[in-house]
Amino acid sequence: MEAFREIFWNIAFGSLVLYTLGAAALGIFIYAIYRRFRLWAVGKPDKRWDNPGKRIWDFIVVGIVDGLFHRRFFREPYPGIIHFLIFAGAGVLLVGTALDVIDHYVFHFISGNVYLGLSFVLDMGGVMMLVGVVMAVIRRYIQKPERLNTVLDNAVVLTLIFVVVITGFFIEGFRMLIATPEGLSQPEFYSHPEWARWSFVGYFIASFFAGLPESARLAWYIGLWWFHAALALGAIFYVCLSFDKLTHIIVSPVNVFFKSSRPKGALTPINIEEAETFGVSKIEDFTWKQLLDLDACTDCGRCQDRCPAYLTGKPLSPRKVIQDLKTHLLDRSSALLVAKVATPTDGGGVKSLIGEVILEDELWSCTTCRACQEICPVFVEHIDKIVDMRRNLVLEQAKLPETGEAVLRCIETRGHSCRGTTLTRTDWTSGLDIKLMSDDSNVELLYYVGCAAALEDRSMKVAVAMGKVLKAAGVKFAILGPEETCCGEPARRLGNEYLFQMQAMKNIELFRNYNIKRIVTTCPHCFNT
Ligand code: SF4
Ligand code: SF4
Repeated sequence: MEAFREIFWNIAFGSLVLYTLGAAALGIFIYAIYRRFRLWAVGKPDKRWDNPGKRIWDFIVVGIVDGLFHRRFFREPYPGIIHFLIFAGAGVLLVGTALDVIDHYVFHFISGNVYLGLSFVLDMGGVMMLVGVVMAVIRRYIQKPERLNTVLDNAVVLTLIFVVVITGFFIEGFRMLIATPEGLSQPEFYSHPEWARWSFVGYFIASFFAGLPESARLAWYIGLWWFHAALALGAIFYVCLSFDKLTHIIVSPVNVFFKSSRPKGALTPINIEEAETFGVSKIEDFTWKQLLDLDACTDCGRCQDRCPAYLTGKPLSPRKVIQDLKTHLLDRSSALLVAKVATPTDGGGVKSLIGEVILEDELWSCTTCRACQEICPVFVEHIDKIVDMRRNLVLEQAKLPETGEAVLRCIETRGHSCRGTTLTRTDWTSGLDIKLMSDDSNVELLYYVGCAAALEDRSMKVAVAMGKVLKAAGVKFAILGPEETCCGEPARRLGNEYLFQMQAMKNIELFRNYNIKRIVTTCPHCFNT
């Protein structure tokens, strides 16, 4: 006789009720996703199907490196371990359940050593989840790091996971005390303790209740089984209705699949000729991907912890920006789904996106450094949203801080962004014998110096060093000197896409005139232009 597992033992109508309600839960879940899908579809188009082969490959790589091996999560060990324990434990239990279903309905293979090994692995999975939940509770309710925004949903989710796993272990314990499948003279705990010990948690629990009369053990077993099933199904219904924390299991991978394939630091261009309005002033002005981002965010706060604006006391938290946008989207969801188009002040009392949902000060506090996007485990794209709202402020409402306005004016009138400089674009070349393109354009490459390195005292050292390196390497190069004009990136990041594109066209024209094929730059802004 080999060890094996019997499911639904002595549970009258267990499979019927479970599968019926399970199917209902699945239906509701699909409907919840569909409803959310319609909400995302309210957003503007965004071509995220480009290069599908590369997308699929990137998705697999990210899935393995950041999903399975938790690279991004482990950058912070404690929260990383919590996530890993819950994620891996749940994965083990999910796979175990799927194998049980295959074993029961397709072909029988879980018996003997396979059964014993699987029992051990499944118990390990449950233990991992419990440890993860306890660590999460300690972190969220005892340590209380500033970045965590604790709401009722967190308590509900942690409690559900904990109770579902614990009751699962108790059922396991009572099953080995009561279930006497065909071929066994007594339940597993009494007849084959060497088998039962492989389910080490269940065995441990069973040892406390082994002395109960059979009727009591049976009552406990059946009662716990129904309680566990109701709780597990209730959890699915809760996820469908709240569409909150746990839905990131579905939405986050989708968000990863559609993540930006642009080079890091590059912003989305506007078609100036065809655009009817500039930037984003209403939630429905965002693209569908930007709306999807809002649901993918797990409110983990990692971005807030890395944001230099937040850390230096500026009125900006990237986590809060995303969560505030999400709340606003949900507040407006009914109107958006019915009308698809509505003005920010329609319907009475609708908050305006810029000024009420997101404050102007928040938008102007962002340095667009990208630290938030680098750390975000689900690849939320914060900067595009912030810049899109800035674009609306600058291009539609002519609103921007005085310092920003002065920079834009400087670029427009003087072709550079360094207000107040008395230097020229060639002062740094003094004594270095560096050629100008206007003198000799027969060179291997153009060194595009950029405003700061040419015109700002501290940064000039960078240009000097680069010039020396290129000369020492024997590279035939030249600079544009007085012909060089700002790449336009500062204007772009401030939201003035129009001025940026003007500058870009001027530069492209210049490059064409000199038939320039290769460009090097030491400035990250010029590089990202
Ligand atoms: S890009 Fe903006 S929001 Fe993100 S970390 Fe940098 S300053 Fe903060
Ligand atoms: S945007 Fe990303 S890093 Fe920030 S709270 Fe959301 S999931 Fe976490």
